[in-house]
Amino acid sequence: MKDTFKHKGLRQQLVKSIKDKGITDANVLNAIGKIPRHLFMDSGFIDHAYQDKPFPIAADQTISQPYTVAFQTELLEVKKGDKILEIGTGSGYQAAVLIEMGAKLYSIERQKELFKKTSKFLPKLGYRAKKLVFGDGYKGLEEEAPFDGIIVTAGAPFVPKPLMNQLKIGGRLVIPVGDDIQTMTLFIRKGEKEFEKHEHGSFRFVPLLGDKN
Ligand code: SAM
Repeated sequence: MKDTFKHKGLRQQLVKSIKDKGITDANVLNAIGKIPRHLFMDSGFIDHAYQDKPFPIAADQTISQPYTVAFQTELLEVKKGDKILEIGTGSGYQAAVLIEMGAKLYSIERQKELFKKTSKFLPKLGYRAKKLVFGDGYKGLEEEAPFDGIIVTAGAPFVPKPLMNQLKIGGRLVIPVGDDIQTMTLFIRKGEKEFEKHEHGSFRFVPLLGDKN
């Protein structure tokens, strides 16, 4: 688990390229500059870790493109101490970005293999989530609600109701909505039944899958 000067240098170039693409949140850029993305990847892809691209991880899933991670995180407007729920733990990279920014992080993953691997790996790097859960993200995490922010890292065919209900008033839900291509959508909860909706362009994610059990 080495993080060399070469890795650090490549990471700074990655931060610059994300900045050039329009990301301005200094805390997001700082987190991406600190986190050794190469350690989250399978050995065959390590040499490409600092390209701004998604790559395959276990269980036919992907580690998202760094720009996409930065874009979603920027929309979430994370503040230190915020209680954040992530749907789709995957490699744990997005989780590490949120923890690095001071979030109290809860994350759900439905693939057992990834859940087990990432639950062991994140603490080894010093990233401690409040709770990593093996389960169905469509249901959210009722027992820990409400959240300041919820981020969905897979393409959702529709917006799951429980996620809307588990937001604090003033809370933000960032979710890519659609089948083959998704629209990055931000919901801000304005009141008990009142949500503001903003759309932020097209992205392509692996699908948010239904409950396996
Ligand atoms: N956040 C991840 C990262 O940083 O590596 C990206 C993961 S990948 C783009 C999407 C993840 O969502 C996959 O790990 C997949 O298994 C998971 N997923 C798909 N459907 C899910 C569901 N219903 N509940 C929870 N996780 C789900």
